Amino acid sequence: MTPGSERPAASRLMVAGNWKMNTTVEEGVALARAVATTVSTAARVDVAVLPPFTHLWAVHAALQGSDVRLGAQDVYWKDSGAFTGEISAAMLAGWCDLTLVGHSERRHIFGERDDEVGRKFVASLAHGLGVILAVGETSDERDEGNTFDVVDRQLDAVFAELAGPPAVDAWVIAYEPVWAIGTGRTATPEQAQEVVAHIKQHVRSRFPDGSPRVLYGGSVTAANAASLFAQADIDGALVGGVSLRAEEFGVIVAAAEAAAGSRGAA
Ligand code: PEP
Repeated sequence: MTPGSERPAASRLMVAGNWKMNTTVEEGVALARAVATTVSTAARVDVAVLPPFTHLWAVHAALQGSDVRLGAQDVYWKDSGAFTGEISAAMLAGWCDLTLVGHSERRHIFGERDDEVGRKFVASLAHGLGVILAVGETSDERDEGNTFDVVDRQLDAVFAELAGPPAVDAWVIAYEPVWAIGTGRTATPEQAQEVVAHIKQHVRSRFPDGSPRVLYGGSVTAANAASLFAQADIDGALVGGVSLRAEEFGVIVAAAEAAAGSRGAA
């Protein structure tokens, strides 16, 4: 049992690379191939790359024969129709593995509301896709002591969209403090652990029978990954900037593999 969430720690970690709006298609294909080669020996870590939408099909082909999963950085909740510029879960289903919903850049730059994030989460699951749900507080919200309230509100808005019994064990939540994303200012392992454990407890208060994997995201690097994964409840990382560098991303995956090994042995 872990001291934080009082649940067995996940023995299978996840490391996902959010490429954001970076790389050409050709660069993305080369990066995907390099990632697949670099992480090929990681047996206890689910590794995913999340390229821009324009790259997905080509990266899908490039990843054939590897265990690296393919994710979309966003998704729309309707299946089809007059929604110019949007991509639906129905379009991704069957060949793409997962989506990312609720990233802070979607929430804060594009004004996505909590309930919209919930609809995206539900649409992804309904189409058999995995989904990473990102939550996290701004710097002001942390300074005002509202971190737990903010992540609870973001989670509850997603729960409100659920219909039917949820498969909580299959969920992946990423705690991404907004002040740590792309800033070089990583949460300390203790700060990250505290909120990740809170997220697990909050989910358990609503759904006592399941336990999601909860990742940390926010300026994760090869240098700080191992100390984050050493925390009892942190089940991996959502990586932005560093995911564009296959070798360094591979070091993060190797740190997750080592952490998974020690959890399995514990
Ligand atoms: C992210 O985009 O989810 C992220 C965590 O970015 P970075 O690692 O660059 O902070």
